[in-house]
Amino acid sequence: MIHRRKLEPSTGGRGMTSQGTRDRLVRRLRDHGIADERVLEAIANTPRHAFIDEALSSRAYEDTALPIGLGQTISQPWVVARMTEAMLDGGTPEKVLEVGTGSGYQAAVLSALVSRIFTVERVEELLKQARRRFHKLKLKNIYTRHADGHLGWPSQAPFDGILVTAAASALPIELVAQLKEGAVMVVPVARGGMQRLLAVRRTEDGYDEEDLGGVIFVPLLAGLAKAER
Ligand code: SAH
Repeated sequence: MIHRRKLEPSTGGRGMTSQGTRDRLVRRLRDHGIADERVLEAIANTPRHAFIDEALSSRAYEDTALPIGLGQTISQPWVVARMTEAMLDGGTPEKVLEVGTGSGYQAAVLSALVSRIFTVERVEELLKQARRRFHKLKLKNIYTRHADGHLGWPSQAPFDGILVTAAASALPIELVAQLKEGAVMVVPVARGGMQRLLAVRRTEDGYDEEDLGGVIFVPLLAGLAKAER
């Protein structure tokens, strides 16, 4: 028996990482309540597949977290969008601190939205990979540091916004102190056996706290990671 088959134009294996799949992701984020068009545009323009292992690239524009090695994950795009939107709060921050560089994807999304990003990671191997990606994509406004993010980046403080992309066991007060008055830190905090995403706004004499909902993050750990061999 003869099967008649149509010859489809070759995608060269790149079909799953095309602008079309990226635009589909952005539509999904919009449908799920992300309203800041600047954030949606930054996500549309950031090649998430460049931040994960090639073996997973067909899943790069699914709205899910994915493994990046060394037990860590690249955050779900909806979570990246929600955190970015809450931190920007309709404004245009100059200097932003990120704790937990991981793959570098969140920093790359921020790179299009703020003047300078200071990002801190405790696992040196992840930081090296992220630096290579920033270099390749010519993202020149991202500054990196191998350090324990609990301490922030004191010499660059105060910041116009802070994103913590690993779950803290309690609100990191050291970081609240590195916010400018009126600036927002978005941070997942473990509470009552769950993790809550908090938006913490620095006030004149303290801070206001808003609960943005339940989330799942890898834990914010203390100290630098030992070199893995
Ligand atoms: N923002 C990342 C997601 C990272 S997952 C991305 O876009 O891919 C959380 C990251 O936080 C991991 O890479 C983990 O190593 C890092 N991390 C955990 N505790 C830390 C700490 N105390 N200081 C700095 N980085 C930390």
